[in-house]
Amino acid sequence: MIWQNWGRTESASPASVLTPVSEDGVAAAIETARETGTTVKAVGAGHSFSGIAVPGETMLDLTNMRGLVRIDDLDATFRAGTHLYEIPAWLEPHGLAMANLGDIDRQTLAGATSTGTHGTGVTFGGISTQITRLRLVTGRCEEREITDPTELQAAALGLGALGIVTEITVRCVPAFSIEASEQPAKVGDVLGRLREEIETNDHFEFYWFPHTEAALTKRNKRLSGLVEPSGPSKFRRYVDDELLSNKLFGGLCRVSARFPNAVPTINKVSGNALSGRTFVDASAAVFASERKVRFREMEYAVPLEKLGEAFDGVRKLIADKGYRVSFPIEVRAAAADDLMLSTASGRTSGYVAVHRYFRDEPDDYFRDVEEVMMNLGGRPHWGKMHTRDADYLREVYPRFDEFCAVRDRLDPDRIFRNPYLDRVLGDDR
Ligand SMILES: Cc1cc2nc3c(=O)[nH]c(=O)nc-3n(C[C@H](O)[C@H](O)[C@H](O)COP(=O)(O)OP(=O)(O)OC[C@H]3O[C@@H](n4cnc5c(N)ncnc54)[C@H](O)[C@@H]3O)c2cc1C
Repeated sequence: MIWQNWGRTESASPASVLTPVSEDGVAAAIETARETGTTVKAVGAGHSFSGIAVPGETMLDLTNMRGLVRIDDLDATFRAGTHLYEIPAWLEPHGLAMANLGDIDRQTLAGATSTGTHGTGVTFGGISTQITRLRLVTGRCEEREITDPTELQAAALGLGALGIVTEITVRCVPAFSIEASEQPAKVGDVLGRLREEIETNDHFEFYWFPHTEAALTKRNKRLSGLVEPSGPSKFRRYVDDELLSNKLFGGLCRVSARFPNAVPTINKVSGNALSGRTFVDASAAVFASERKVRFREMEYAVPLEKLGEAFDGVRKLIADKGYRVSFPIEVRAAAADDLMLSTASGRTSGYVAVHRYFRDEPDDYFRDVEEVMMNLGGRPHWGKMHTRDADYLREVYPRFDEFCAVRDRLDPDRIFRNPYLDRVLGDDR
């Protein structure tokens, strides 16, 4: 076994691992695969929980294709293997920042955008919506710049199915700070004002601790420009996060995995220990935090107006079925966008994410959550665990067949296929 993902849900032993340094090197790998009738898969940081990144015969590691290519006004072009955590240092001298980010920054730019990685904020789309152009090598071995708007609506969130992406241009914004406010609350109160919270805050999200009334709310306010950091320092926040969110929480998860019946009590103690904090820092430092406790995750997007129903459905099934869930449930929102396979394609969306500590005994929790989400027209995150196939996905994505048509043009011989893509896009050739 050569490759495994962060969540330890997938692993693979590809026959060869290549680390190209240039687009021509990528093209050469694809040419060889064409000649030998084999497949090629680029992997990013392995942070997808689904099998989307699982390589077959040839695995491409783009570690040697990282860094800034050029800045053109607000547009910054990066090589596709650049990690999100590397980007702020490249943008800082130009007074720029990425408009929005997810919870962590360990992913590669190509990996994050290929699966529709998103943060929260009802007027902000996922990271793929920031893409203005990209370069890729198609399954026909063509080295192409994608600028055509319709083709870009497929390729900016391409599931790794259209080509090996070599460069990505993102539209940045002038660097800005965020005033972050994290506050404990009662989950009933949060739900009562959920729509208002989502609509009046730039970025709102909350975590609910199952088996308790405890929630942690996070409100991020965008400030105009960069201002002096204030509140607990980055170091202090790191220590708090390290001790509470990583070390202590990790210990509690280990105990919970061994003694599931103790979970409600443990969650009550965790919920009671929540405390508030407010601080100001540069945007990237606020958006991303470290996750050291290993978990598995499923996340579904539903139309925003159904978010409360989706959350209540999960809460009810935990109670009804007696599941013991140690991990908080995360609720977020995002703007509608025009990308063919974005979870927010054509609809303003609310997100419910459920997690399991990676050592928890497997049970039907995720399957039951999926049932709730399917009844609400839910769309699964492409990089997180789900069981949906092409028949279901075609129903919930109006532009599904348009995407498949772009795939037929760019990868007619299915050089980039793997079992996950066969399932979600249809094993048609
Ligand atoms: C701890 C943790 C926190 C997370 N938080 C969030 C979050 O806040 N929001 C969210 O939406 N998601 C989140 N995710 C999910 C994660 O962002 C996505 O799964 C993302 O795709 C991972 O990026 P990666 O670089 O690890 O890509 P990988 O998982 O390695 O690959 C993902 C896909 O990208 C393709 N790919 C990679 N490079 C290329 C390339 N050069 N050309 C073509 N295709 C390519 C792969 O083939 C694969 O299909 C989280 C995951 C973890 C483990």
